[in-house]
Amino acid sequence: MKTKLTYILGDITTVRVDAIVNAANSSLLGGGGVDGAIHRAAGVELLAECRTLGGCKTGEAKVTRGYKVPAKFVIHTVGPVWHGGNFNEAELLSSCYRNSLLLAQSVDVKTIAFPAISCGVYGYPIDKATTIALETVIKFLKERDEFDEITFVCFDQEILEVYRKIFKKYRV
Ligand code: ADP
Repeated sequence: MKTKLTYILGDITTVRVDAIVNAANSSLLGGGGVDGAIHRAAGVELLAECRTLGGCKTGEAKVTRGYKVPAKFVIHTVGPVWHGGNFNEAELLSSCYRNSLLLAQSVDVKTIAFPAISCGVYGYPIDKATTIALETVIKFLKERDEFDEITFVCFDQEILEVYRKIFKKYRV
């Protein structure tokens, strides 16, 4: 695999990559958590562009410019709300990663950073979500290994430790 996979502790709004991924809600009009942080950091122009997009379905992704964040693009994806695991959550979460990567490649992004989609207010169990994140990314890269670096940004120590374990398990 040419693409380098990394995980870091940090705030995704400050990461210097071509694109950051936003764990948005389906309105794309802002919210709490990482969504709120990205809108605050990018400024009101981001919201103005989001208003033109007509929302986004769970598992899908849409792209905007990054405005005042260092990243050139923000890829907005809507993670599933965790309802216990029998409501297609795993497939939908996997689709978020896959569709974000596809969209990123379509605008020639080489470096991209993901937050832990659905692991905040949407309640997805972190160990399950990180496994899906890494498995989906690895599977994607087996078909299209065209990035330079994919970074998982962990907002707290707990998620960082889970990524550390899962990276070890998958030897990446
Ligand atoms: P969701 O609604 O998809 O659960 P949240 O924003 O509530 O989205 O949480 C997703 C993850 O993003 C959580 O792990 C949360 O700790 C993390 N997070 C919150 N703010 C930031 C940030 N500025 N940078 C990176 N990750 C963040």
